[in-house]
Amino acid sequence: MKQLKGIGVSPGIAIGKVFVLHSGESFNLPKRIVGPESISNEIARFEDALTRTRTEILGIRRKLSDQIGRESSDIFTAHLLILEDRTLIEDVIEVIKNEKVGAEYAFSTVIQRYFQAFSQINDEYLKERISDIRDVGRRLLGNLCGEEKKRLEEFQGKVIIASHDLSPSDTASLDRSKVLAFVTEIGGPTSHTAILGRSLEIPAIVGIDKIISELQDDDTLIVDGTHGVVVINPDQQTIDKFYSQENRFIQITGELDKLRELPAETLDGKRIVLAANIEFHHEVSSVISHGGEGVGLYRTEYFYMNRTTLPTEQEQYESYRKVAEAMASKTVIIRTLDLGGDKFASTLDIPHEMNPYLGWRAIRFCLTRKDIFKTQLRAILRASVHGNLKIMYPMVSSVYEVRAAREILDEAKTELLQENLAFDKNIHVGVMIEIPSAALASDVLAQEVDFFSLGTNDLIQYVLAVDRMNEKIAYLYEPTHPAIIRLIDMTVRNGHRHNIWVGSCGEMSADPLIAVLLLGLGIDEISASPVVLPKIKKVIRSIRYTEAKEIAQKALTLQTGKEIRDFLDEKLQNICKELEGE
Ligand code: PEP
Ligand code: MG
Repeated sequence: MKQLKGIGVSPGIAIGKVFVLHSGESFNLPKRIVGPESISNEIARFEDALTRTRTEILGIRRKLSDQIGRESSDIFTAHLLILEDRTLIEDVIEVIKNEKVGAEYAFSTVIQRYFQAFSQINDEYLKERISDIRDVGRRLLGNLCGEEKKRLEEFQGKVIIASHDLSPSDTASLDRSKVLAFVTEIGGPTSHTAILGRSLEIPAIVGIDKIISELQDDDTLIVDGTHGVVVINPDQQTIDKFYSQENRFIQITGELDKLRELPAETLDGKRIVLAANIEFHHEVSSVISHGGEGVGLYRTEYFYMNRTTLPTEQEQYESYRKVAEAMASKTVIIRTLDLGGDKFASTLDIPHEMNPYLGWRAIRFCLTRKDIFKTQLRAILRASVHGNLKIMYPMVSSVYEVRAAREILDEAKTELLQENLAFDKNIHVGVMIEIPSAALASDVLAQEVDFFSLGTNDLIQYVLAVDRMNEKIAYLYEPTHPAIIRLIDMTVRNGHRHNIWVGSCGEMSADPLIAVLLLGLGIDEISASPVVLPKIKKVIRSIRYTEAKEIAQKALTLQTGKEIRDFLDEKLQNICKELEGE
């Protein structure tokens, strides 16, 4: 039995068999023992992966050579030489035969020996070849591991997925009926993979250092997504303890769900809107069952992932219409395409960038790909007659973008008028405040739009210069940092001064302490994953607004994130006893 700690990103407890899904990114793989009858199959898999990798590299080399000349494609010639190295190939086959292991494990052991040997050579040129070996190795491992997903599809029963990394598009394509929970080695608390864990409503933990090398397929795992704890091959006593915790979790969740019909209103009558974030239209049922008073953020980019063609206007219209109708008169905020950062779509040729989070993404992408943007705007406008839709633009950094987007929206409206297609002529348009410049100039932006929604996931990453994906610096990702709460305070005040409402749709409001802080800072709406809404509602219904305002004012005078968190903790200790022990 072994216990490991990571960052719990989706609450709940799961107990089950592990299924290790290799992404091909890491060379630390679990040892998969195979029977003597499978050895020839493993060798064939390895040879097949060699051929596929070779074909891929030849293709890239040809393309590069045509586009930028022979010289720059030479690096791939070096890659081919590595792939054709007889010693390497024979070493891998030897390991498969002698140790009776799977091809990927054999290959990763051999290649690690090569790294070791090369790093000891006293020759700079040869040392640099390590990165070539690593590149080819990753590509080959990727080809070997690509089959894993197929293996998962064919797998009978439910498993806990363990992977070095899961991209948002991989996570989005997981079959919910097969997956009890997932754990990864990398990823921060607000990475989109973490967010998807919550929307799938399965326990999830990210950032567990080197867990993959500790695991063998078929090990039993306990995943406690609330506390970020994983237990490998637990004894019966530990299993019993976690089962009783799971029962308590189910009981608390059940109790909280009883608040479904009640408003998010403080003891002294201050009411805010408690809405939900969704990624897929079918999540509306979860929004309703958890008492969401609307959709505060519909992340539409998943529409564009895991497919070979772009979504059509009609397809999008139908999906937005479903959400609008299901939520009836309640507000549904549709955020326009926010690709880039950690979210990519293979159909859109977004080039690889050095700093994807600072690059050609979200509204920046949409303003240059007007065709794609206008198709989406037309779909939203057409769906707007079926409910109460609002449009929200992501990653706005200045009024230029709002004005440029408005021009395209106006064009879409004119076209629809000409085509006699109905839409809500007064549809509200808002922006996400998630770039420091937008928060600092929120007085200017407030005069151009109908509402703000604070995107604190990105705001924190940009203000504190902390990559939200990186588990190694997750300790610096501090929602209570004084710089963050001052910017939120400033944005809320600027919004209200110009008579627009201000919401918050970042993950930090899922924490009851922070929800109270946001309430005290005067926020009008909180939007979070459906599963966490009951908990936020409970805390709001347990406090007086006057008290929340005093707490926020005091927090604004404190000097560090830790001081603010400790202060909130102390103030709230007695407010919500029911949430304790979760
Ligand atoms: C945010 O940045 O806070 C946000 C809600 O958007 P996303 O997580 O999709 O970037
Ligand atoms: Mg964002």
